[in-house]
Amino acid sequence: APKSRVLSGIMPTGDLHIGNYIGAIKNWVAMQYEHDSFFCIVNMHAITTPQDPKELYEKTREVAALYIACGVDPKVSTIFVQSHVPAHTELCWILNCIAPMGWLERMTQFKEKSKGDRERSSVGLFDYPVLQAADILLYGNVPPVPLYVPVGEDQKQHLELARDLAERFNRLFGDTLAIPEPYIPKYGARVMGLDDPTKKMSKSEKSRYHAIRLLDSPDDIRKKIARAVTDPGRDIKFDPERPGLYNLLTIYQAVTGQSEEEIEAHFEGKGYADLKRELAERLVEYLAPLQERYRDIRQDPSYLENVLAQGAERARETSAVVLNAVKKAVGL
Ligand code: ADP
Repeated sequence: APKSRVLSGIMPTGDLHIGNYIGAIKNWVAMQYEHDSFFCIVNMHAITTPQDPKELYEKTREVAALYIACGVDPKVSTIFVQSHVPAHTELCWILNCIAPMGWLERMTQFKEKSKGDRERSSVGLFDYPVLQAADILLYGNVPPVPLYVPVGEDQKQHLELARDLAERFNRLFGDTLAIPEPYIPKYGARVMGLDDPTKKMSKSEKSRYHAIRLLDSPDDIRKKIARAVTDPGRDIKFDPERPGLYNLLTIYQAVTGQSEEEIEAHFEGKGYADLKRELAERLVEYLAPLQERYRDIRQDPSYLENVLAQGAERARETSAVVLNAVKKAVGL
């Protein structure tokens, strides 16, 4: 049977954090052996808001190296940079021409990111979800195969748009595009900020005590966890009414792999100070080998460039199949 596919990506802006890992990358690693998998660094999305060119170039390498350090295996998965594969912007244009303005105007992320400032927000930022739809739909193959998109909860609305656009295209021009399936994890789909557990942990948030970054030093990790906002109450329970505590326990669960019951039993009779101390140590232990792999990868730039060159070639070959079918269907 034709193999199912997986596609996902992260923007090379800011520093990757434990939310990106638990919500997305961890599942990529788990899924890569069962599906033909494609993971991109979406640098074309990064230029929808002002960027420093040198920093963007450097961040792109950093994110690629982090994918590998987290366990994405370049021998098994295709790792590539979005701008190396022109099919993404080509399909984006074609989809632009069938995407109703009204659909895009309803996207909450645009409203948040543009802060309502239409004079200073780029057309690219408005169009971001259509480019994202193109990123995904290119990997659905012809004839379509099951296409999974492992992302965090915040991407749900964009995934819905990608599905709607694929359905609209198929209605207008005949069955061509696979309808993608979001894969949103049951736990950790929305890791919250340590400084404010009512807001999702985010790369663009600048506050120092907001996020555990994948490349944070042990000291920083300990300081941030120690300062994490918690809630009134004593016992250590997965209680959604106590979002600060719930968030810390979710992170604990992701790095230890233990069940809720095991964790609650372990912390029976203990308090916040114990949880924070143990969580910090588990995180330090968990991130240490990842950081070591990251440093090794960065010491050999030609290895990384090679992975990205081979990934681009494979992604170009793969995406050409859907793009050609789309063009033919449209009469281009
Ligand atoms: P950010 O919002 O931090 O800038 P991106 O928008 O680049 O991150 O998202 C990269 C991936 O990480 C997406 O799949 C997104 O859903 C996931 N993600 C981002 N933040 C979180 C979070 N706080 N919890 C879980 N998953 C997240």
